[in-house]
Amino acid sequence: RSNAEKFEFQAEVSRLMDIIINSLYSNKDIFLRELISNASDALDKIRFLSLTDKEVLGEGDDTKLEIQIKLDKENKILSIRDRGVGMTKEDLIKNLGTIAKSGTSAFVEKMQTSGDLNLIGQFGVGFYSVYLVADYVEVISKHNEDKQYVWESKADGAFAISEDTYNEPLGRGTEIRLHLREEAGEYLEESKLKDLVKKYSEFINFPIYLWASKEVDVEVPADEDESSDDEEKPESTEEEKEDEDTDKEEDEQKPKTKTIKETTYEWERLNDVKAIWLRSPREVTEEEYTKFYHSLAKDFGDEKPMAWSHFNAEGDVEFKAVMFVPPKAPHDLYESYYNANKSNLKLYVRRVFISDEFDELLPKYLMFLLGLVDSDTLPLNVSREMLQQHSSLKTIKKKLIRKALDMIRKLAEEDPDESHDKDKKESKENDEKRGQYTKFWNEFGKSIKLGIIEDAANRNRLAKLLRFETTKSDGKLTSLEQYISRMKSGQKDIFYITGSSKEQLEKSPFLERLKKKNFEVILFTDPVDEYLMQYLMDFEDKKFQNVSKEGLKLGKDSKDKEVKESFKELTKWWKDTLASENVDDVKISNRLADTPCVVVTSKYGWSANMERIMQSQTL
Ligand code: ADP
Ligand code: MG
Repeated sequence: RSNAEKFEFQAEVSRLMDIIINSLYSNKDIFLRELISNASDALDKIRFLSLTDKEVLGEGDDTKLEIQIKLDKENKILSIRDRGVGMTKEDLIKNLGTIAKSGTSAFVEKMQTSGDLNLIGQFGVGFYSVYLVADYVEVISKHNEDKQYVWESKADGAFAISEDTYNEPLGRGTEIRLHLREEAGEYLEESKLKDLVKKYSEFINFPIYLWASKEVDVEVPADEDESSDDEEKPESTEEEKEDEDTDKEEDEQKPKTKTIKETTYEWERLNDVKAIWLRSPREVTEEEYTKFYHSLAKDFGDEKPMAWSHFNAEGDVEFKAVMFVPPKAPHDLYESYYNANKSNLKLYVRRVFISDEFDELLPKYLMFLLGLVDSDTLPLNVSREMLQQHSSLKTIKKKLIRKALDMIRKLAEEDPDESHDKDKKESKENDEKRGQYTKFWNEFGKSIKLGIIEDAANRNRLAKLLRFETTKSDGKLTSLEQYISRMKSGQKDIFYITGSSKEQLEKSPFLERLKKKNFEVILFTDPVDEYLMQYLMDFEDKKFQNVSKEGLKLGKDSKDKEVKESFKELTKWWKDTLASENVDDVKISNRLADTPCVVVTSKYGWSANMERIMQSQTL
């Protein structure tokens, strides 16, 4: 086109498109889900803007917040349009080609190893999946603040933008036209599209329509005089014409009218939009929750979420919420923990989507949870900043944390492997839940530890969720409650030791005597454990005692005093020999069995392991 301006794709985007075009990935269906998800996002945006400015919706059809799909079999074009916020010329240039998002290179990298294209949406580059099925794509868009533009590309490293002077005006929104590849003909079949929308877009909160054909019976005069009704009669197919001919020859006494099949088109609604979180938890099936999770996670694998919590909070602050524990932790969950401020709960106010980056809903250590909150108490027509300050948020957050921890506790309670009761442990009942808490712990255990460090109000609740190995747990995980239940009579403290590995710890001289005396000792081997134990002082009235630190009491021995007395000279000599800047004290100890002596850390000092961790961090 003469008025077209040409642009080059940013290099990483271009590589991404090459990968998509040449991909042998068989599940090409995903492009539709990505387009519908983008349309839905655009509709959410305009609806959000309309809360404070009704004018933005325009009038007539433009006020209908919906998505429409049309098929043009003849020209092999599939088009999807929305009445969302639309894109200005600048948006088109930036969003669809010139600015690579952080996910672009991450996704390219992933694809080069063993990536699953299915996850494209998670990386924020879902749009480009259109090139799985199309070799030429047009994006026609009209934003309230700009003219209508067309973006087009054959994925050959460049795209063009031109002011749209030839298509019908859109009013507002975006239409994406996919010129389908030869082998993608199936996406022109209505039944295929209906199936896909059902499968992938069930939880889109806007109506999705397909311009669908319909066979209808039409009564037409069964008249000999063909020429007279030609104009009224819709075009009939060859077969129908033949039928008419034979009818005529055969039957003289037929009624004055007859019925023929006619194909008409109309908008057919493909999804029903009763939001899952508005339904009663009792009505929603496991399968529905799983599907809902997949749509939230933009992950359409077969894995079920580990757990979910769906509830309706009443009282001063009303809200509904659904939260999921994902089956796996994302690869970068802890990478940017202290910089990232990302809650994965979407916030709705009275069914209207407000934000998916609302950090005030959950504390950082729970950011692995996915889900949404819909509140009737929060005000609709205020700015985001005002909303962030709203007093109800504190109540919501508190309840969400409580429910989240309940959900995690249940994962443990339902797990037969976790049971204290031997019969329950061995019974076949609940077998499908066996090991689920260990699985949770392996994926998200660190989050629980960070929670203990960060959330003083829930520290005790979180401590109950803590798992670890001990000198007696036989390679299995155990809990503080179980530890306490096994404590020897007369044992006052909970013993633990920290180090870099279980193997290293088991050789530690600090454990010699404890082992001999049959005391159980917790083995902490994760670097975060050192920090954890600075915050976890006690549990159910029992103090924690690091066995490599001063203050270890293993019960009195009658000979203690005697021994101490007889070695008085020696200990003094030791202390004088070792310069006082090197050691604080030299003492007779009853913590050893075979090793003659050990260096112990003072009660408030860093343990040797902590020194090691700090050193590795400054290097
Ligand atoms: P994501 O949706 O994760 O941001 P996409 O690759 O799917 O990534 O889309 C890229 C961007 O293009 C979107 O963030 C949005 O700004 C813009 N976009 C895509 N489709 C539409 C649409 N139908 N209406 C408005 N903007 C859109
Ligand atoms: Mg998208």
